[in-house]
Amino acid sequence: MTVRVRIAPSPTGNLHIGTARTAVFNWLYARHHQGTFILRVEDTDEERSQPEYTENILEGLRWLGMEWDEGPYFQSERLDLYRDAIQKLLDQGLAYRCYCTPEELDEMRTAQKERNEAPRYDNRHRNLTAEQEAAFQAEGRQPVIRFKIEDDQTITWKDLVRGPMHWQGRDLGGDMVVARATASGEVGQPLYNLAVVVDDMDLNISHVIRGEDHIANTAKQILLYQAFGGTVPEFAHTPLILNKEGRKLSKRDGVTSISDFQEMGFTAPALANYMTLLGWSPPDATQEIFSLSDAAAQFDFERVNKAGAKFDWDKLDWISSQYLHELPLAELAEALMPYWQAAKYDFDPVADRPWLDQVTALIQPSLVRLKDAAEMTQFLFTRELTWSEDAQKQLSQDGVAVALQGVIDPLAAAGFELSAETAKSFINSTVKANKLKKGLVMRSLRAALTGDMKGPDLMESWLLLHQRGEDLKRLQQALEIASA
Ligand code: GLU
Repeated sequence: MTVRVRIAPSPTGNLHIGTARTAVFNWLYARHHQGTFILRVEDTDEERSQPEYTENILEGLRWLGMEWDEGPYFQSERLDLYRDAIQKLLDQGLAYRCYCTPEELDEMRTAQKERNEAPRYDNRHRNLTAEQEAAFQAEGRQPVIRFKIEDDQTITWKDLVRGPMHWQGRDLGGDMVVARATASGEVGQPLYNLAVVVDDMDLNISHVIRGEDHIANTAKQILLYQAFGGTVPEFAHTPLILNKEGRKLSKRDGVTSISDFQEMGFTAPALANYMTLLGWSPPDATQEIFSLSDAAAQFDFERVNKAGAKFDWDKLDWISSQYLHELPLAELAEALMPYWQAAKYDFDPVADRPWLDQVTALIQPSLVRLKDAAEMTQFLFTRELTWSEDAQKQLSQDGVAVALQGVIDPLAAAGFELSAETAKSFINSTVKANKLKKGLVMRSLRAALTGDMKGPDLMESWLLLHQRGEDLKRLQQALEIASA
């Protein structure tokens, strides 16, 4: 079978992590079977769809490496197709106009609630006479078009993730609205279930892979395929992404859109790798780091979980750090540049490049997210260091002033050249000459040079500060603090 799958985002918000993960699974499945991955933008909801969301979704998919082979198709450009399909349903007596007002529908639901029944449309306008319709139209009521759903039927399919599925017709909420209609009764804006089925048939979609929140839609959609005489595709319903508390990950959990993750400094390969693990595991379950094409080679639905996938920040951070630690230095420096620029650090990307590469090498082993680099390296870039409380406390200890003076003097005499050996010899001679503990000198130098008591390798940091012409100045300023 030729595999044709699709991702069908609605541009009513930025690219959501759930949609992106669905895109990843579709993409993996398509690549595994040398199939076609299609992008369709479901923008029939005129009020909520925004072009900037479409832009964000397309950009996010590209960024993640989810290049599509066909599309994007826009539902808003395919309205005639849906209208024809709805007309066909009307002509065949499989759909009808329903003139219920919102108030009537509300009343219906309230009464059902009082009787402890599940809310549903009671199909009351299924068999209106031409006279009744004319009377409603004369009242100016605007109808919707409903597709008939018989209560007494079982809809079944074999879900590729969840196995055999059964759904009762009576549990689908009564005859379903497939389109709005204009005042004159013309077929108007089509609704989701109808448009999806028409498109999936038209695009010859072989497998519908989407989140399990669409299971009830699948039951309804199967009835539409049957009504149209179309081939029902295979379905795979993937588990939802859950937060720590086990509830569906939502806006309330902070970041949810791919652009948020990008802004936080995750790289695309790391994020795509993590998303693949949200619901799937490779045959060798110990393998946690892989490229999308590695994953595609091994991907199948047997290894997709039925249970929801908990979003785990620690795991994402760990994966992110693995990627950053392996990145070639020049590439990482390039990736950090925008973060340093955003932090408004004073540097020249070209002239300072050798220095920037060394800064990158200094922090690479402890980098978790690209964005962290700004804070981690602030002390290297700044021209006006401030000393933390801990650093000031360190500087005010006995012996610090002499220790610093013992480094300042030879450093001032040394001029521009400073090697790790020379710097070490300054430390050793101030230790010896002033009978100090080496630990005290090292801690004092860290406090003086970096303004903090924690940070990357001290000697390398010192050499980097020296290249920037910052070390002697800072030691002298720290000496003032120490002597105050
Ligand atoms: N537009 C739907 C969504 O974003 C697509 C669901 C589907 O794949 O059919 O949830």
